[in-house]
Amino acid sequence: MHNNQQDEKIPSKALHDIVAKIENAHKRSPLSLAPPILVAASKGQNAGRLELFLEAGLRAFGENRVQEAASKWPELQARYPDIALHLIGPLQSNKAGEAVALFDVIETIDREKIARAVSKEMEEQKRHPACLVQVNIGKEPQKSGIVPEELGGFLAFCHSEAALPIHGLMCVPPADEPPAPYFALMHELAKRHGLSQLSMGMSADFEAAIKFGATHVRVGTALFGERKG
Ligand SMILES: *Cc1c(COP(=O)(O)O)cnc(C)c1O
Repeated sequence: MHNNQQDEKIPSKALHDIVAKIENAHKRSPLSLAPPILVAASKGQNAGRLELFLEAGLRAFGENRVQEAASKWPELQARYPDIALHLIGPLQSNKAGEAVALFDVIETIDREKIARAVSKEMEEQKRHPACLVQVNIGKEPQKSGIVPEELGGFLAFCHSEAALPIHGLMCVPPADEPPAPYFALMHELAKRHGLSQLSMGMSADFEAAIKFGATHVRVGTALFGERKG
């Protein structure tokens, strides 16, 4: 694919700008938590471009598709051993093995079948990525995730039946509404269930998410520029 240089951000500058915004939002947040981690949403970015961001110091990345991630990350992981690779898109149970082998964090545990499949793979591979439950915080029919009312039951299932340790929650709020009330509810849910990690906020709203206690923000466009085709 041809890259139009004009659309592309300069890695070190783009990274510096986002990190500064994250730090500012964190300073202004009423919740005194650890500084949020920037997870670069790198779908559609090729290995060469990713390497420029690695050289600029970025270390946490989120991919939406297991297949795409498997095609570009293993080589980079070998050269930059401190990468944290997150799965931020839906997981199919027939890809659970590959996902457990490749990712350090699986953010999209969203149904019982996936919880079981991931747990089984962890046991077989003796590899234990951190897991988050995806919450369908706006209860949108087209979105995956556990609705808030069913979260308690699902967490209990993960704990007792699937033996899958859950570290936190992840969400993508409705696109056409102010996100703050949804971020507030996510914070409330994490607190209620004693979960320490909260992955929320994207390019348009990561500062708002940090105000409500995001520990991980997933930023794509604001870091890499507009995604192409
Ligand atoms: C693409 C994506 C992001 C980043 O979106 P931007 O608006 O480009 O920052 C975050 N989370 C998920 C799940 C995504 O698919």
